[in-house]
Amino acid sequence: MNLLKKDFIFQNVIKLQGVGPQLSKYLKRKKIEKIKDIILNLPYSETDRSKISNLNNLEVGKIQTIKVLVKKLNFPRIRNLPNRIFCEDETGSINIVYFNSREGYLRKIFPLNTWVIVSGKVNYYNKRYQITNPDYVTSEDKQSYVLKNIPKYNLTKGINEKKYRLISEQITHNLPKIEDWLNNDFISSNNLLNWNDAINRLHNSDEGKNSQSKSYRRLVFDEICANFITLSQNRKIIKKRKNIKNFSETLSKKIIKILPFKLTIGQQEVLKEINQDLKSKMRMFRILQGDVGCGKTIVALISLVNVIEANYQCALMGPTEILSLQHFRLAKQIFKDTNIKIEFLSSKTNRDKKKIILENLKKGKIDLLIGTHTLFQKKINFKKLGYIVIDEQHKFGVKQRSDLALKGGDNCDVLLMSATPIPRTMMMSLYGDMDISKIKEKPSVRKKITTLSKPENKINELWIYLNKQLKEGNQVFWVCPLIEESKILDYSSVKKKFNLINEMFPNKVGLIHGALEKYEKEKVLKDFLEKKISILVSTTVIEVGIDFPNANLIIIENSNKFGLAQLHQLRGRVGRGEKKGTCILLFKEGLSKNAVKRIKILKQSDDGFFIAEEDMKLRGFGDLIGYQQSGIKNFRFADPVIHKDLFDLAEKYVRQNEQKINHKKYNFLLKLFDKAEIININES
Ligand code: ADP
Ligand code: MG
Repeated sequence: MNLLKKDFIFQNVIKLQGVGPQLSKYLKRKKIEKIKDIILNLPYSETDRSKISNLNNLEVGKIQTIKVLVKKLNFPRIRNLPNRIFCEDETGSINIVYFNSREGYLRKIFPLNTWVIVSGKVNYYNKRYQITNPDYVTSEDKQSYVLKNIPKYNLTKGINEKKYRLISEQITHNLPKIEDWLNNDFISSNNLLNWNDAINRLHNSDEGKNSQSKSYRRLVFDEICANFITLSQNRKIIKKRKNIKNFSETLSKKIIKILPFKLTIGQQEVLKEINQDLKSKMRMFRILQGDVGCGKTIVALISLVNVIEANYQCALMGPTEILSLQHFRLAKQIFKDTNIKIEFLSSKTNRDKKKIILENLKKGKIDLLIGTHTLFQKKINFKKLGYIVIDEQHKFGVKQRSDLALKGGDNCDVLLMSATPIPRTMMMSLYGDMDISKIKEKPSVRKKITTLSKPENKINELWIYLNKQLKEGNQVFWVCPLIEESKILDYSSVKKKFNLINEMFPNKVGLIHGALEKYEKEKVLKDFLEKKISILVSTTVIEVGIDFPNANLIIIENSNKFGLAQLHQLRGRVGRGEKKGTCILLFKEGLSKNAVKRIKILKQSDDGFFIAEEDMKLRGFGDLIGYQQSGIKNFRFADPVIHKDLFDLAEKYVRQNEQKINHKKYNFLLKLFDKAEIININES
């Protein structure tokens, strides 16, 4: 055997024999770019070609292997007629049929009066067995290449099994011998396999399709480790020494005093954690998690004040124009008796204004800049940036947020805020590089949202209720789920609903969905916020944390299509003001047991963290639609539900080996899972 070099597998597939530009393009469609991606592309099944069948004993419709004597070749000169090869064995005869093939080629692989091995799907045509365009034809002396279980891979146009096999076996049969990053004791005591054996088995047995097989579990463990190691390394990069921020909290205490409410215990505790970080010698890299409506914004603003008191500038970034504007207005209001200078910047800020802001920023004349992504453009320079707060950031990956943290400079603390409570395993694998703060309770003034469910065929009963709500000056969200993956179908379903409701409540209804441009979306949301419209028909785009204090009813159609956590998020859109909120879940008749259970959980609980855990238990990780949409799912093999034990094991492993993780042997692992560039590993 001719073992490959380790480095070789990190090169482009084009380095392989038989792979040219065209084929590499096809492979790329299957996410195979580097040679190592072939290792990670596991077979989903096997085809048994190992037994030779007699011609009197063939099963139509199945892939079979036969050994036959070539009796006659027929090449009709009429277009569109296929070429035929007549073959026999001792028990019967068969036609091998080819469309679009060259005579010379067929004469070569089917020499007259010679035994050949043919493997392919058998059919029956004109009272004869035939195999059309067989998968394999080979001479007797090479039969061992065909007579076996052959792994089946998910392939795409332009690559068939035979072609892919020629490529993939160059790797899977010649795997480089790796210095395993796990030692033998660890491997055996945790019932895993060594890396080489595992990969070998994944490709050359049926273990690749069994997510609980030893070999699959080894790959899963590696994937989780690669992820945890990356986070751990990232943490090391970011949690560096910084200058201590000196503040006495005089200003922030003053502001807390004049707030129209008392901070909850949760808010106070989190503030304490943040303040400790700000005052410490190490940079803060913290995520604040808290359910919708638990009051994260005020926590952020108070902590910002402290940093401003310490004579640093701050930035607060929201995901959308409206949300950032809302933050800006709130900040203006609660800082109005201070001399803190606040500005707002977004892509819509006009050029002259922007120019002034940028100048003042550079001169240190602005203390707090609030805005959208625009805040982090290259040309935006602070004089002395000390703190970045990012709201609703769950669309940032590891790389993005660490880039951002580093862009802030050595003395810049970072706080992310997320309103998506997620299960602990996911928390670990997504934010393991950050310190975590949680706010678990909601302000006690907030009334619990009433959750009701109703079959969709009773939708007519809703109109009266809706009418009453509008008369009382309330506003309503009407949410339609993604019915199909397709944006067009999705659009047509909300559009239909919009037409229906608009007929009943003319001029009071707005429509918003994912296919709208960003500015169009923001316009509709603005109209709703300013009460120009009373009912907003939408897909799930309203999930992000905008405060519509006047909206107190949300109706969710086809609610069993949503995940629990997502329903909870949606529900949190209402009841944020004085009025009590109501959420009505519409569902189609014939709910599954699980669906009934989910509605029950939602009616009972208001705790986002609890709901997230239950959601995962009920549906499994792979099915967490809401999370997938928000880009949270970041494993290819590991599943936090099925492989929970391996997540725990990997967490322990990485923690215990933290010091050794710089060792070269882990580079291979990190490169294998495309993590190397996140933490800048180049040499192998
Ligand atoms: P989220 O955590 O979803 O970002 P917000 O910060 O937008 O929540 O707060 C939601 C609402 O709750 C705001 O109107 C805010 O003024 C109010 N709020 C925040 N903290 C408290 C509190 N301790 N008591 C009462 N209301 C509060
Ligand atoms: Mg918020």
